[in-house]
Amino acid sequence: MPVRSKIEKVLIANRGEIALRILRACREQGIKTVAVHSTADASQKHVLLADESVCIGPASATDSYLNMAAIISAAEVTDAVAIHPGYGFLAENADFAESVEDSGYIFIGPRAETIRLMGDKVSAKKAMLEAGVPCVPGSGGALGDDAETNLKMAKEIGYPVIIKASGGGGGRGMRVVNTEATLISSIALTKAEAGAAFNNDVVYMEKYLETPRHVEIQILADEHGNAIHLGERDCSMQRRHQKVIEEAPAPGITDEQRARIGKLCTDACKNIGYRGAGTFEFLFENGEFYFIEMNTRIQVEHPVSEMITGVDIIQQQLRIAAGHPLDITQDDIKITGHSIECRINAEDPDTFAPSPGQITVWHPAGGPGVRVDSQVYSGYKVPPFYDSMIGKVIVHGPTRSSAIQKMRTALSEMVIEGIKTNLPLQRRLLDDIGFQNGGTDIHYLEKRLKQHLKNKA
Ligand code: ADP
Repeated sequence: MPVRSKIEKVLIANRGEIALRILRACREQGIKTVAVHSTADASQKHVLLADESVCIGPASATDSYLNMAAIISAAEVTDAVAIHPGYGFLAENADFAESVEDSGYIFIGPRAETIRLMGDKVSAKKAMLEAGVPCVPGSGGALGDDAETNLKMAKEIGYPVIIKASGGGGGRGMRVVNTEATLISSIALTKAEAGAAFNNDVVYMEKYLETPRHVEIQILADEHGNAIHLGERDCSMQRRHQKVIEEAPAPGITDEQRARIGKLCTDACKNIGYRGAGTFEFLFENGEFYFIEMNTRIQVEHPVSEMITGVDIIQQQLRIAAGHPLDITQDDIKITGHSIECRINAEDPDTFAPSPGQITVWHPAGGPGVRVDSQVYSGYKVPPFYDSMIGKVIVHGPTRSSAIQKMRTALSEMVIEGIKTNLPLQRRLLDDIGFQNGGTDIHYLEKRLKQHLKNKA
């Protein structure tokens, strides 16, 4: 049965490259699309291409892309059947998912209760421990107020430890503690900050891993109890917890390691009744995986998994939302070759200051195995109000070194004029010996950036 017989029209509650990616997936299935946009985004590529579009508010995201009532009203007036939240904005907002379903629309994502469970880090870790997924050793729950107990716990875990806010996100609400002397004050400080920032002052303690890699597992689960994984991605190239380059498979991960951690993740999906696409994020150190969090949505870096498996993850999200069972089994998933993604941001490549403005020339890369997911066209204006990512260059080659070669060629072809971008940084990283060797830890990029600034001075 075609997906469109259940979902005739999808409202895309996002902007930028992901909105365009969702629009394309809908089109291929014969599904009609509704774009919603702020006043600053009337000329977004997906808005121009959508069957219908609705302006949902002024430029400020709070009044537009985060305005739940405006988005649901837009679904009402356009007779949309389902809402795809993309990533960021309302994608992991359980209240939004609930309002969408209570208003009679399909939320293209997990049930609200699952988003709630996994959105709170203490409850997520508890659920994962119960499901047998390995976690970073730690308090195993919220920290209490008793100083003696907390000191004893930290001593047992072993310094350094990290104090993390249960409601934290986007790399905020964390504090590393190196010695006993600062433990109690650090807990109090993180608690106070978390209360102010996330309206939730619950904090917990974990062993601080010093040189981990970031390795994550992509899963797909339907509402009939089937779950599969699409292997792993390595996203260790990060600056301020923001991923800069992602790749799949992760260098050095064996088929046995992949099969073992993948099975634990799909079993966990069945355990919590997960529905849709999702990602289990792990820190990987000394050959061991440690769960840190689950993302209950599509991720920016999903294309590298698509390239090595041939599975269109957004099409699968649509199928699952329409209530279909998965049409692929774990045995159907074969990992072929290697894929790399470079995020292209409108920012100064050295200072990282955002660089909004009009793109006068846009010449994307091309050729076999090269994919450019971007909303940009010549004359496109990058608004100053949102995330600075303007696109992604993704390549696929038979081996990691051929993929690197392909990415170097692709980046050398890209021409973006009128604004500053991080293309010079990406080109440098592709030439970097550490990256070329593979398997660098999550601190590598920041160390290289410091060195680069020193060399320039
Ligand atoms: P967020 O939801 O804010 O992204 P995460 O729990 O995913 O929070 O952690 C973000 C980043 O913080 C991780 O990618 C890692 O770089 C660092 N981090 C978190 N927990 C630990 C830990 N126990 N040891 C070392 N680094 C950690």
